[in-house]
Amino acid sequence: MPNGYTGSILRVNLTSGTWTTEHPEEIFYRTYLGGRALAAYYLLNDLPAFTDPLGPENELIFAVSVTTGARVPGLSRYTVAAKSPLTGLYGEAEASGYFGAEMKWAGYDAIIFEGCSPDPVYLAIVDGEVELRDAARLWGKDTGDVQAAIWEEMGDRKVQVAQIGPAGENLVRFACVLSGPVFSHVNGRAGMGAVMGSKKLRAVAVRGHQRNAVKDEEALRKLAVWFGQTWKSNPDDRLLREVGTAAYLSALNGAGILPTRNFSEGVFEATDAVSAEAMRRELDAGSEGCYACPVRCKHPVKSDGVYKIDPLYGGPEYESLAAFTSSQGISDVAAAAKANELCNRWGLDTIGAGVTIAFAQECLEKGIISEAEVGAELRFGNAEAMLAILEQIAFRRGFGDILAEGTKRAADKIGKGAEKLAMQVKGQELPLHDPRGKKGVGLGYAVSPTGADHLQIEHDGAFAAPGLFLDKIRPLGINEPVDVLSLGPEKTRLFTYLQIWWSLLNSLDWCFFTVAPVRHFEVEHVAQIVEACTGWNTSIWELMKVGERALTELRLFNLKHGWSREDDALPDRLYEPLPGGPMEGFRMDREEVEAAIDAYHGMMGWDERTGVPTEAKLEELQVCYPGWRPGL
Ligand code: SF4
Repeated sequence: MPNGYTGSILRVNLTSGTWTTEHPEEIFYRTYLGGRALAAYYLLNDLPAFTDPLGPENELIFAVSVTTGARVPGLSRYTVAAKSPLTGLYGEAEASGYFGAEMKWAGYDAIIFEGCSPDPVYLAIVDGEVELRDAARLWGKDTGDVQAAIWEEMGDRKVQVAQIGPAGENLVRFACVLSGPVFSHVNGRAGMGAVMGSKKLRAVAVRGHQRNAVKDEEALRKLAVWFGQTWKSNPDDRLLREVGTAAYLSALNGAGILPTRNFSEGVFEATDAVSAEAMRRELDAGSEGCYACPVRCKHPVKSDGVYKIDPLYGGPEYESLAAFTSSQGISDVAAAAKANELCNRWGLDTIGAGVTIAFAQECLEKGIISEAEVGAELRFGNAEAMLAILEQIAFRRGFGDILAEGTKRAADKIGKGAEKLAMQVKGQELPLHDPRGKKGVGLGYAVSPTGADHLQIEHDGAFAAPGLFLDKIRPLGINEPVDVLSLGPEKTRLFTYLQIWWSLLNSLDWCFFTVAPVRHFEVEHVAQIVEACTGWNTSIWELMKVGERALTELRLFNLKHGWSREDDALPDRLYEPLPGGPMEGFRMDREEVEAAIDAYHGMMGWDERTGVPTEAKLEELQVCYPGWRPGL
């Protein structure tokens, strides 16, 4: 009986409606842990080059890790991964909540979907028993209705349901996957919802009545108690509990780097009206959280006002709030909260949707498209038009059908210089962080394997001065502060180490909001918890190598599917100076960015110019693609 993992990986062929179970040996789990690294292994080895992301050859993987489901804060996440229909490269998104732990208790470390079902289905697993069920009556329904219907059909409200909405069914390229019971838990990025929709897989429903075995329950209990008694001493975790990530909106505005009107400015004049404080004052519906975590950082909203907002669909976190306010010049916080509700109701990534609409607004403002073409006065600041176009996108109606392709493809179709206004990298829309004021984030946007992503590293400001956060990452070998505006070798080193660290956390499916480099658990706790779950005599050294191995495998995957260095290009706008505010005149510098990418490649053991991993690095990490699998 293994400790920490179930030892079972389910492979479901949706074309034939059949399934098999694989039982990898222990060394496979020790090499990959789970989550990102496990998904990278399968996608790299299973997918032929240039697989159609929306075709039957693509695989959709749900994965958890050797620590998921242990009764310790932060061990609740799960990964959804596939080749991305937005970028044509590796795609991945993590979410917290309750689904990950329940999937493991239901009996599986990963579920790999291949093929495409001829008719809508959902997968149900109860205590290891697998069933593909008809989902025809669920197709086209809101996520809340589908969750309720599955609970009723399975006769158990403790069934955890991860699903797509109508946007995923309609193959919107930035459709997401999300789970409840309150829909605050979103695998948002990279278009995983569209891949699931292409397979006609509406939902995965899991229930397990038996927790899986861990090696040292008492050690885990002590660590959970320590976290529970002391986490409020961490200022960032306290902020998450009291206000949530929405608090960052005012902070970024004060710093002059709040993306405003499609990243054309860094200060939004109506910030006070759309701040986290305003949202709490007008729309507060309490807090909620995830399995075994006392932080409860999610803040649902509700309203019976002009916009009816159902708290079942959670509330906007920072990215969503900025995407539907400053990014579009909208000063109505209730309208933004309604947009967030609709995205969770229909299964749209809020970043993809918000930034794509801001792109269309600027196209209209600049006369590249007309109101007649759009069918609405889709200008900056027009909340009604924003909500109307959101529906058109989710259901691929009218002009929404073009925007449902994401900014890159929409710009190609619109032409007339629209591509200059598309804020994307590799086809994925920029998150709501302007890298002109935190340059490590810009490097992350450029080199992220999944296209623009703000979760490559903890952001630059945390390590700009001595103090708590720098102290927390000293065990990783970072001892000196690094300026937020630096993009020299010291920043690249910080970036590389922290990207490997977060790659490890994504392989453990560990919530970033509970652990170093900024939140409460220390670096050393990660090794202690892996050891207590599995019984392995492990170390941070061994675990960091898993994070590094995953990044190198993702680079191999992307090379196989056509990536070249030219794809790591930031939007031109970021090389233009910010026009006002505290960061007036600041911009990214092309030569500096290119030099940082070279240095990053070198530090990763990849060829500096081409970014191709060297033979020596592949051997050091034991990435012997193709077809290599330890222990088999
Ligand atoms: S910190 Fe927040 S997102 Fe993370 S596990 Fe706790 S409640 Fe969930």
